[in-house]
Amino acid sequence: MKLSWTPYDLRLNHRFTISGFSRTTTPIVLTKIEYDGLEGYGEASLPPYLGETQASVIEFLRKVDLSSFPDPTHIGEIVSYVDGIAPRNTAAKASVDIALHDLVGKMIEAPGYKMYGLDKTAVPDTTFTIGIDRDEMVREKTREALGRFNILKVKVGGDDDKRIIETIRSVTDLPLAVDANQGWHDWHEALDMIFWMKEQGVVMVEQPMPKLDLDNIARLTEVSPLPIFADESVQRLSDVERLKGVFSGINIKLMKCTGMHEAWKMRKLAETLGMKVMMGCMTETSCAISAAAQLYAGMDFADLDGALLIGNDCFEGAKLENGKIIPSDLPGIGVKPVEGLVFWQ
Ligand code: MG
Repeated sequence: MKLSWTPYDLRLNHRFTISGFSRTTTPIVLTKIEYDGLEGYGEASLPPYLGETQASVIEFLRKVDLSSFPDPTHIGEIVSYVDGIAPRNTAAKASVDIALHDLVGKMIEAPGYKMYGLDKTAVPDTTFTIGIDRDEMVREKTREALGRFNILKVKVGGDDDKRIIETIRSVTDLPLAVDANQGWHDWHEALDMIFWMKEQGVVMVEQPMPKLDLDNIARLTEVSPLPIFADESVQRLSDVERLKGVFSGINIKLMKCTGMHEAWKMRKLAETLGMKVMMGCMTETSCAISAAAQLYAGMDFADLDGALLIGNDCFEGAKLENGKIIPSDLPGIGVKPVEGLVFWQ
């Protein structure tokens, strides 16, 4: 197996603002594993607040030596070796895991969802994110989403939460998911807000309070009329068990958890613990989105709009159909590079 990579910069269609951050591009690194005439593709997406960079990913990938693994189908063994190379670097690790899944799917001529025994159409609607913005921009972004999506996601956690919900409500009655990105600090006030939001047609709440404030989040979840999902509070498999009784569910993202192999384990463990699960994403090309789309059949919620928010997607893969992201029928993660956009180095 030969691993190669190339950095790439994603252009966002709209300036993206969440509680505390604002940006117009996202750096990524694309990976490729070649074996026996086949190519598997992967991706590391690197939003700046998570700490990995194109340089750190490339430095990590230089340490990955797949030459001692004669059989790519031994995915568990290989990703466990990759995980052991250095701590953290979760997006870099995911870029290898995704490329490996793509390669193995091509070797056995099966799409990823079949490798995991899933029905590719039995998936939840994806949310489409409306960022924090001026009222007119919020209305415009909301109108852009109408007819394409069945649920919207609203970034809250600032001082204007009610106004942004009311602004969206002036355009549409679609169900809303809200993500406070740790922005609420008092659980009583958060609970009042959640009761108000439920009346406005909000159906779930993501990361209401700071990620380590688990006692207060548990108090909130216990009495909340809406399910409360962990995002910043959950990274990897080892985080899941301690969140039982704290959150109603977890938001699994390939870039946080080192890829598809561990994402699947997180999902199974959460379900065993009686927790809800959702699949999320960063701003990513259709490469990483298509990888996530292989694994989310039967989940409670999905936030897989990442590739729809960028102007220079360099892969074709899973597509938006009737508000759901549906994988292609191609093997592996089901993607094709868009010709002329990726220049492998
Ligand atoms: Mg979130």
